[in-house]
Amino acid sequence: MTDRLVSVAVPVPALGLLTYRVPAGHAMPMAGARVIVPLGKRTLTGVVVGEGTAFDTSFAIRDVREVLDDTAFVPADVVALTEWVAEYYLAGPGAALAAALPPHGLTARADSFKTIRIAQLTAAGIEAVGRMDKPEGLSPQERAGLSPQVKGARQQEALQILAGAPDGLPSGALAERGIPAATLGRLKALGLVAFRDDRVDRDPFGHAVSASAAVPMRALTAEQQAALDQLLPLAEARAFRVALVHGVTGSGKTELYMRMAEAVRRSGRGVLMLVPEIALTPQVAALFRARFGTSVAIQHSGLSDGERHDQWHRIRRGDVDVVIGTRSAVFAPLARPGLIIVDEEHDTSYKQDETPRYHGRDVAIMRGKFAGALVVLGSATPTIESYANATAGRYVLVTLERRVLDRPMAQVQVVNMRDEIADEGTEVVLSKPLRAAMRARLDAGEQSLILLNRRGLATAVICRQCTATLECPNCSISLTVHGHRSLPGRRAAPGGSLRCHYCNFSKPVPTVCEACAAPYMERVGFGTERVEAEVRAAFPEARVARVDRDTVRRKGSLVAMLERVARREIDVLIGTQMIAKGHDFPACTLVGVISADVGLGLADFRAAERTFQLLTQVAGRAGRGERKGQAIIQSLVPDHYSIRLATSQDYRAFYDKEVEFRRTMRYPPQVAMVNVIVRGRTFGEAMAAAREFADAARGGKGYVILGPAPAPLTKLRGEHRAQFFMKGTSRKGMREALQLALSRKPELARRLSVDVDPLSML
Ligand code: ADP
Ligand code: ZN
Repeated sequence: MTDRLVSVAVPVPALGLLTYRVPAGHAMPMAGARVIVPLGKRTLTGVVVGEGTAFDTSFAIRDVREVLDDTAFVPADVVALTEWVAEYYLAGPGAALAAALPPHGLTARADSFKTIRIAQLTAAGIEAVGRMDKPEGLSPQERAGLSPQVKGARQQEALQILAGAPDGLPSGALAERGIPAATLGRLKALGLVAFRDDRVDRDPFGHAVSASAAVPMRALTAEQQAALDQLLPLAEARAFRVALVHGVTGSGKTELYMRMAEAVRRSGRGVLMLVPEIALTPQVAALFRARFGTSVAIQHSGLSDGERHDQWHRIRRGDVDVVIGTRSAVFAPLARPGLIIVDEEHDTSYKQDETPRYHGRDVAIMRGKFAGALVVLGSATPTIESYANATAGRYVLVTLERRVLDRPMAQVQVVNMRDEIADEGTEVVLSKPLRAAMRARLDAGEQSLILLNRRGLATAVICRQCTATLECPNCSISLTVHGHRSLPGRRAAPGGSLRCHYCNFSKPVPTVCEACAAPYMERVGFGTERVEAEVRAAFPEARVARVDRDTVRRKGSLVAMLERVARREIDVLIGTQMIAKGHDFPACTLVGVISADVGLGLADFRAAERTFQLLTQVAGRAGRGERKGQAIIQSLVPDHYSIRLATSQDYRAFYDKEVEFRRTMRYPPQVAMVNVIVRGRTFGEAMAAAREFADAARGGKGYVILGPAPAPLTKLRGEHRAQFFMKGTSRKGMREALQLALSRKPELARRLSVDVDPLSML
């Protein structure tokens, strides 16, 4: 008999597919089934990706220990998608598969749900209750005779409670009503009660549903209708297509998505909608839940492992036909996807910043291609890449130019901070126009949103005598001051703490310089904490809240805060870009941007695009209700094109200018890029290894190698880092060169991070 071999992905980074033999007596597992396999001295759970081949006979092929599933645990099309991810992003197939699994997917059995034990009356039990219920005509002896077994009052009570619940009651609920498990056990022994195990799904967004009042079906605006007329035939064609919906903020894209989703699910196919991490998910999910009820599942990283696990299995069982989730939901085991929506496609949270470094939008497009589905990318500020694809005719372009009900766009004003500093000194955080506008909103009982894309109190602490700054000992980046809510001004007072935003190292703020012992430590720059202190000082009566990664660590706290804003319990909300995402607060009529320049100083070719996106999006938060909105943007470089064109909210002009810059400088989308970071214990070691590896990857056609050079963060979490870029028109050429280099230098594999289509150059 010939060997029956399977190819298995195991969740070990950097390992390729492994071949195992299926021993006689075991059925051949399907692609997508989990198997237990030996690896070295370990035993691991892996996923079968297909039939195996014994191309290398020098290795003894080992046997599969156990086959866990007789069907595909991971659907075959999702397995294929992860194989594409592994190849495109140069990640191990196991690492790619792990991204597609529910939490503990490789350890849990397919049926490992939270189960609860339900007690229910048997036929004999029902009869016994019937006799207990009509005591009038019966003497006590007769009653005892008819139901001789039921002794205690507890047992009788239990039977009576159960009689009122034809579907049975969880044993936990009975315990709460004073019926202990032992009583139920005795009734079971008497044959009066039976148990069954029910599996329950923890509902991760029950509260979000209750928070959203039923959304009335609205008549579409003419633009929405035209967009729908353009998009629906594409969905009905059941062929792969990508459409880019470029709709200004407030143009009603969500309603459009819901109409499309409704049509597609009615045609018997599934709908997958990706939303950015994480703030937005509950809002959008609640809208969809209100419209589609329990046929919606949600997948995002803010859920507990148990919740995610339950949702994953609901999808896999086919209980739902609409899935809404963040990045990893692109791998949801949804059958027959007919429509895949990527909302806010420009959002950087779609890119995973650890292996596999995939982009959720691009994987979504691939999934659409495999499934023959329509992929809809939506944004008010599409990426240059996507818009270029649309102008080149590769994507269908759908444009929504006006806000629903012809609500006006926010009026945007730029404040030149150089003038403010000349008038008020370098301390100024809130300019005069911004303060006046906030005052007016407070008096009118309206809300303001204040954005600064930088956390903390100060960006750095510097010694005025020797100019030493305080850096993280593990990462080459300055430490940020935190923890001084009420201290305006600049002096670095004792008691605060210094923190690293990369590795979370922290220490107290020193009062004297560590280098020269001079007592002149000064804070420079400022973050959201400082803005909060200034706002509280300027408007003591205002109800102020702050949202950034420091305040929303706890699961659910961001959602709770946004709900408070929606209930208008907050007058001024201060935050980082978390608050710039598509929230819809009708009572917010003012948006203030403390510094538009935060991103512009960065050595990243996407700096202008990021700035334009952020400013346009945040201005789009103002005036979404009946009242007109206003945005005030503070900047030291008000003439920069990204700021100027965000002010006039002219996407097309920005795109034309930016794409020209990318073309002349040969940046994406003109070329593709790959970033390779090489780590070492010393900087010399990292550079030497990077040089060796870059040399091994040189020589192919269609790309050039730039570097190696010190990475912008030369030290991160204690490791030294060097990097090089590959840039060219042939992604395939670059991929093959890297694969070849890896096969030549396998010892370097564990010291490399390869980032295909990197989003950040830092
Ligand atoms: P976008 O996502 O394009 O920024 P939203 O989908 O959040 O815009 O819609 C903006 C606002 O307009 C929301 O409050 C939404 O409920 C409302 N809206 C959407 N479509 C309609 C419509 N056809 N009629 C009335 N209001 C609508
Ligand atoms: Zn650090």
